Amino acid sequence: SCGICVNKCPFDAIEIINLPQELDDDPVHRYGENAFALYGLPAPQEGQVTGILGPNGIGKTTAVRILADEMAPNLGQVAGDPPGWEAIMDEYRGTELQNYLEELRAGDVTVARKPQYVDQIPDQFDGTTRELLERTDERGALSDLIERVGIGPVVDQDIDTLSGGELQRVALVACLARDADFYFLDELTPYLDIGQRMTAARLVRELADEEDRSMLVVEHDLAILDLLADTIHVAYGSSGAFGVITSPKSTKNGINEYLGGFLENENMRIRQESITFEEHAPRQTAEGDVVVEYPDLTKSYGDGEFSLEVEGGEIQENEVLGVVGPNGIGKSTFAQLLAGRLEPDEGEVDADLDIAYKPQYVEIDQPMRVDAFLASITDDFGTSYWNTEIADPLQLDRVMEQNLTDLSGGERQRVAIAACLSEDADLYLLDEPSAHLDVEQRVRATSAIRRYAENHDATALVIDHDIYMVDLLADRLLVFDGEPAERGHASPPVGMRDGMNEFLANLDITFRRDERTGRPRINKPGSQLDREQKNAGEYYYSD
Ligand code: ADP
Ligand code: ADP
Repeated sequence: SCGICVNKCPFDAIEIINLPQELDDDPVHRYGENAFALYGLPAPQEGQVTGILGPNGIGKTTAVRILADEMAPNLGQVAGDPPGWEAIMDEYRGTELQNYLEELRAGDVTVARKPQYVDQIPDQFDGTTRELLERTDERGALSDLIERVGIGPVVDQDIDTLSGGELQRVALVACLARDADFYFLDELTPYLDIGQRMTAARLVRELADEEDRSMLVVEHDLAILDLLADTIHVAYGSSGAFGVITSPKSTKNGINEYLGGFLENENMRIRQESITFEEHAPRQTAEGDVVVEYPDLTKSYGDGEFSLEVEGGEIQENEVLGVVGPNGIGKSTFAQLLAGRLEPDEGEVDADLDIAYKPQYVEIDQPMRVDAFLASITDDFGTSYWNTEIADPLQLDRVMEQNLTDLSGGERQRVAIAACLSEDADLYLLDEPSAHLDVEQRVRATSAIRRYAENHDATALVIDHDIYMVDLLADRLLVFDGEPAERGHASPPVGMRDGMNEFLANLDITFRRDERTGRPRINKPGSQLDREQKNAGEYYYSD
């Protein structure tokens, strides 16, 4: 079993859907004979944020191109004339989508879109951030948006000098500054820290609440999607083969069913295992051997424009140490100090450690095939052991024969994680492995990293902003605080409960538990639970 569909293999599903008696179930669109087919469309609603939750390659962009009137759906008729609006309207009469399609047909809908891969913006635009953004200022909201996302300091810089987190916020502003009826945001969160994610979510909500716009959001950070969306369409199927977009569900049920792996209305199992969260902080396991012990360290750049203070600590063998804190606070600097790539100003790091490092922005642009690239890193490449530990959980089989330069963001991320884990090292440093991975891939990558550390007497240090991923991944936490771009401070590593409390107290965010599934959900600021938990100092776990 591939683990995606159990009761119903995707290939059987295609056959069943294609049987003549299933004609009621024509796709919305099929790209060609035996090509990808999309079933169902999301239904954007005025004044609402509609979420789509599902894997990459499942037809989300196809759906949006249809809703944006960039592409006429063919209702599965790949030969002959396209069926035309009457047939399409007939198909959707009486559904949530009817109103929207009527407006679209009358030519009354304008659309603004934020692309998924913000890293590509510098290839498409030459000039400063301000020049790019001024073209988008259709509502007179630009300066307010720039200030609220905090990109003021970089507006006069050339676009190609911005970091991923800055580009992400520029792309968000460029989309939200437009005057459109329908906004489509393909992933808000990659490269943003939690504070920035919350701000992005708030801006999207405000456009729905205060301006009555329709917002459609694809998002894989479930804590943020939960906070943001009014309703959710789950997308399932088989990436690259077919995708089904369900009718809207309440956000809470949509996320719970997705995590549980079973869609209730559809009576459809979409995954063998359910994804579950522990309500109580894991007990700290017996202390293992120490891999690295570091003393108090300091490091500053330039004339002290940024300075970092690290309290001494130790990292244990076989553990996954989560690293949390805002962007620009010194997390990568610390990683480089450990890796011996930077010299501390004060203190000294044991330089005998072999460290494998996956940077935040993955640039592997050699003109080389994925298999050749990975084979150049490890002699274990292609052994059943390597396949089980690395290639299978990271689902590399489909990309092995592709060129590195042709990979999508999520594919490149998985190859980079594999490359890092394939090195023979004492310490594996992974900076934001969740970026551009869908929920399924995050969970698989998480267990690959965990298992790898356990089986190799190795240790992994994982920097990530997806709180669900950190929760699933880490044994202990290293918490950074301070003032981004000015000064950073790191405490010694602590247990999950203390670490989450310290980290979330800095952010002033508490989580409650979904009563049915135990899934952590962000509390409304100032709500009774929020106040009670802050008083008790319990920000995340319920013990
Ligand atoms: P998502 O946005 O969920 O990642 P897309 O809608 O971009 O998915 O693509 C879904 C599938 O449709 C992809 O596997 C892709 O191979 C296929 N596809 C997309 N555009 C075309 C096209 N113009 N012609 C043929 N196939 C396409
Ligand atoms: P994080 O990983 O937490 O995002 P970093 O360690 O990358 O933080 O950076 C911390 C601060 O140091 C940021 O303000 C960054 O701009 C600055 N910085 C990082 N590297 C350099 C460098 N080589 N020269 C000058 N400043 C730097």
